Amino acid sequence: MIFNITKKNLYYVLGYTVLLFCLLLVISENVQAVEVKRQEQKKLIKNTLSDKKISEKLQLAEDNKRSHYIIFKKLISEINQQPYIKKTQQHSLDFLNAYDLLYRGQYDKAKPMFEALLQRNISNLMQFKTNYLLIYIATVTQNWRDGLQYIASNTKLLTRFPNGEPYQNNMLATIIFYNQIGQYQLALSYIDNLSKQELSAKNSCALLQLSLEAQFNLKKLKHTDSIFPQAINKCINADFIIAANFIRFYKAKLYLQVESPEKAVTLLSSLKEEVINTHYPMLIADMSNIFAEAYWQMSDIYNARKYATESLESNPNNANLIQAVDSYFLLYQIAKKQHDLALALEYFEKYSDIEKSSLEGEETKKLALQLAKHKNVEQESQIKLLNEKNNVLAAKQSLAETEVANRKLIIVALTLIIIALATLATRLCRDHKRVKELAEFDPLTGIFNRGHFTQVAHSALKYCQNSQQDLCVIMFDLDYFKRVNDSFGHACGDWALKETTKACESIGRKNDIFARIGGEEFCIVLPSCNIETAMSRAEDYRAIIEAIVTKASGYDFTLTASFGVTDVKRSGYELDQLLADADFAAYASKDDGRNRVSMFQAASDNETEKLDASWEYN
Ligand code: GH3
Ligand code: MG
Ligand code: MG
Repeated sequence: MIFNITKKNLYYVLGYTVLLFCLLLVISENVQAVEVKRQEQKKLIKNTLSDKKISEKLQLAEDNKRSHYIIFKKLISEINQQPYIKKTQQHSLDFLNAYDLLYRGQYDKAKPMFEALLQRNISNLMQFKTNYLLIYIATVTQNWRDGLQYIASNTKLLTRFPNGEPYQNNMLATIIFYNQIGQYQLALSYIDNLSKQELSAKNSCALLQLSLEAQFNLKKLKHTDSIFPQAINKCINADFIIAANFIRFYKAKLYLQVESPEKAVTLLSSLKEEVINTHYPMLIADMSNIFAEAYWQMSDIYNARKYATESLESNPNNANLIQAVDSYFLLYQIAKKQHDLALALEYFEKYSDIEKSSLEGEETKKLALQLAKHKNVEQESQIKLLNEKNNVLAAKQSLAETEVANRKLIIVALTLIIIALATLATRLCRDHKRVKELAEFDPLTGIFNRGHFTQVAHSALKYCQNSQQDLCVIMFDLDYFKRVNDSFGHACGDWALKETTKACESIGRKNDIFARIGGEEFCIVLPSCNIETAMSRAEDYRAIIEAIVTKASGYDFTLTASFGVTDVKRSGYELDQLLADADFAAYASKDDGRNRVSMFQAASDNETEKLDASWEYN
């Protein structure tokens, strides 16, 4: 035998086997535990949201918190289960959790949560939002001093939020506060102020609801008022069902005031389901109280008691004192009517307890009111300051815009005026030039016409007479010009006239006064010039005319002129006489065979005859 199994060995084997088995058991249990943990982790990872997703869901919850409670609740429950969440996100989540408690009427729990948030390093915006929700809690729990304190806190922050949703929500909370404190006129003035801002549909509805609440309490409303359907529609369109129903409740209460409880019941019966679905205790409790009062008026004791009790159930810890007072007082009246004196006493005690604390609340309210008035001045002045700042800014801006626009207008107007003036000036200048040209110059040749020539010649004569200087006049007339026209046409005649002018101008002098004084008659006045020079100049003119190459016109013809010359010594300083004498001399040239220069000879004046000889050229 290889193995000699002894009893002792058998114990060993057994012992090891048990040990091994236990080991296996432990290992397998560990494996199982690890597996469970792994599964748990897997599940956790699967449900873990990214930072971005958490922020998105927080925002979504924020957006739904006033209108869609179920969605809001689902979202915050999901975020509450997240294992990892950033600090700022945690602040938002705490805020929403506190809001959830506030919504459900658990003010005693919501309040410390909001207060704790204020102790943390939260953003100004969250501080502002937390403050106005605390104003709201203070209002509902009739803690007037607290309310004022938070109104004051937010007044300090108001400069950071001069408009927009947070500002409006804060104002709404303040208005609710003043409505509850019985300061309806003050509330209405705040409402008036806020209504000037651009409001979201929801806030616009909320503002209307608060305005109706103030007016209801000031007894300014009738159940027939057309504002009711309008306001209800506005709130339904804004998806603000709670506000829509509060408005309907004012109407129902007005029915009770005119002792039409049936109408109140009909109205509320159609709303019951909708109201319960809001899960808003204040609204539900309010509805139950109206029902109770309506049935009480209708002597339906059963339903009156049922609804009064329901109202108390929806108002845990009598959080809403006013509603609790109404409910207990009605229950007391019912018990009394049914001769259940023990029960009546019980309800009366509760009623009077709450009424007492409510009366204490009245005292505090009065005290707070004094404070409110004081603080209100501060707040109003801040708002006024803000408004003034805004107005000043707006005025400045509009002034700047107007100035810019005015400046632009002035620039445009000036530019237009300058352009118009420039155009006018150019046109006037052109017209003037044209008129002047027409008045002074001969349109065909461009030299002085007879009229202007006369003026200029007079001046020259006057000057020469005063300074005892000579002055000569040369006059010439083209020869047989009629023939040129007749043979080659008027255009050719015009060409000849222009060429003659050009030729004469080419040898003209600076002081010569050259003019076309008739059809083919020209005149040249030569100031400060003696008769010899004038005769010589006339000869030059004659020669240059004769030298004109007429072929350039397309026709070949002879172009000459006959000249007459005179001076002041012969003819005097009268222009007419000078011209007549020069003309006379020119005719003499014609008579003598044309194309020549003749000096005027005064037949009677021997002196001049002796001085000057006759000039003749061929
Ligand atoms: P004479 O040598 O005697 O001066 O002969 P003449 O043909 O020049 O005589 P007359 O003075 O009778 O003729 C002048 C002509 O000049 C008549 C007219 O047709 C012509 N005439 C006058 N003014 C113009 C003009 O502006 N253009 C043209 N083409 N002809 C003109
Ligand atoms: Mg003539
Ligand atoms: Mg002629």
